[in-house]
Amino acid sequence: HAWSTECRAPRSPSVLRVRSPVPSVVSIRRRLTIGYAAALAITIVGFGVILYLNRRSASFADLDNRLELESRLSERYLADSYRVLGELVITIENDTTPSLGANITPYFDSFRDDYLILLGKDGRVLYLSNPVAALSFASIDQLTRLAAGASKRELGTTTIDPAGGLVRYLVMPITGSDPKLGNILVAASTSSNAIAPQALLRSMLVIAPITFIASILLGYWLAGSSLKPLEKMVDELTEITDGRSLHRRLPVDARANDEPARLAQAANGMFERLEQSFAAQQRFVADASHELKTPLMVLRAGVERVLVNPNTPPESLQPLDESLEEINRMTELVENLLTLARADEGLSPLAVEECDVAELVNEAAETAGMLAELAGIEVRTQVPPGPVLLNVDRNRVRQLLLNLVTNAVKYTPRGGQVGLGLADQGSAVEFVVRDTGIGIAAGDLPHIFDRFWRADPVRSRESDRPGTGLGLAITKWIAEAHGGSISAQSRPGRGTIFTVSLPRQQQPAVVS
Ligand code: ADP
Repeated sequence: HAWSTECRAPRSPSVLRVRSPVPSVVSIRRRLTIGYAAALAITIVGFGVILYLNRRSASFADLDNRLELESRLSERYLADSYRVLGELVITIENDTTPSLGANITPYFDSFRDDYLILLGKDGRVLYLSNPVAALSFASIDQLTRLAAGASKRELGTTTIDPAGGLVRYLVMPITGSDPKLGNILVAASTSSNAIAPQALLRSMLVIAPITFIASILLGYWLAGSSLKPLEKMVDELTEITDGRSLHRRLPVDARANDEPARLAQAANGMFERLEQSFAAQQRFVADASHELKTPLMVLRAGVERVLVNPNTPPESLQPLDESLEEINRMTELVENLLTLARADEGLSPLAVEECDVAELVNEAAETAGMLAELAGIEVRTQVPPGPVLLNVDRNRVRQLLLNLVTNAVKYTPRGGQVGLGLADQGSAVEFVVRDTGIGIAAGDLPHIFDRFWRADPVRSRESDRPGTGLGLAITKWIAEAHGGSISAQSRPGRGTIFTVSLPRQQQPAVVS
């Protein structure tokens, strides 16, 4: 059960992670559509109700106007007729029932659909229009009583049974005419006037859902299309994974001044500042390590001079020795830091040339042999007999192999084995450094290439395994700068295998 880790994408200590917010875009779209639909439904219903009520009251007003006009015309007609005829109400011989003169009634018959009742002064009915005559006796009686009951002009609504329904009526006493005349009632069923608002309601009930559904679809599409630039932006932002992609900018439509364009501008401004501060930080590390190099060299030279001076008291030798060790460790640290800082800044171009990597592996094996001898470890090498030519930066690959080999020796107890292998795979060359050492825990494996990461930081300073925690970070950078990759497999207590694969066809370096 070997654990392994594969490192393809370059990792920087400051990783900017943007979680893909695609689901939230979807939910904004849904929320917008629901909100829009609700607003639209309220508007449509409100508009419909107001329109209906308005239409209804307007049609009642129309009806009232009609009744008013009919009653006034009737009154005028009666007055004119009276002036001409001198008598309007006649009582036929042998009949006690008075009635309207036969030459008057055709006029009233012309109000074809409306109810008209004319009463005598004594309250007796003088004339009933045809629609009234067609009503039931009870309804005629009801209307007649309404007509008789009013002493002045009166407007109202009543219900007549069974078929008449709601009826609007106007009663008024007739003046300026035959004194035998009493009240006149004109009335009309509201149902004829209700048709307009009801038809309106019906057509609204048909049109509203269609409008509603069409608008929702349109709204959904609109919300989606207005969020599209946002989705694109999310994709672009997701691409910006670490400090090295900070030079990227979101595309900004210069003509647009909408929210997405402003967001893109704001994000670009942020990237600008981030890029600057990243660059400043890298510059600082590079400058600081560079400035530290010379004083460290002077220090080392001084300490070495005192160490070899025969006049140096023997009791000072040990502290001086320890100082020298610390100075060496610091020099290594400063050099490693400078290497990484330069690499981050893109100031470490590879000096690529064709070289025999088999020779480099043999060289590394020799160094490993010397280190291993002191540590009581056996070194085995498995390298093809002939030269293996590859376009690489010789010094960088040497550094890569030495890092892996020194680690292998460092983390393998006495009596263990360290193996170096080289395999030509045609399109790529594979370097393998294996050991039978302490191994790396599965949980630690993903971190070993991180800068300053060490499995046991407490032991690091004074232990038998000193180190800076930068070796593998540099190793990984070298592999990736060559367009290759590095992976590690390990079983705690059993050993570790590092595999570096460098392609023959040099792709443009992923890491500067
Ligand atoms: P260091 O200077 O500490 O060796 P590296 O970057 O080279 O720094 O390695 C990081 C850490 O990875 C080490 O501290 C060690 O815990 C672990 N490691 C590296 N190589 C091996 C190995 N061959 N066997 C076991 N652990 C290893």
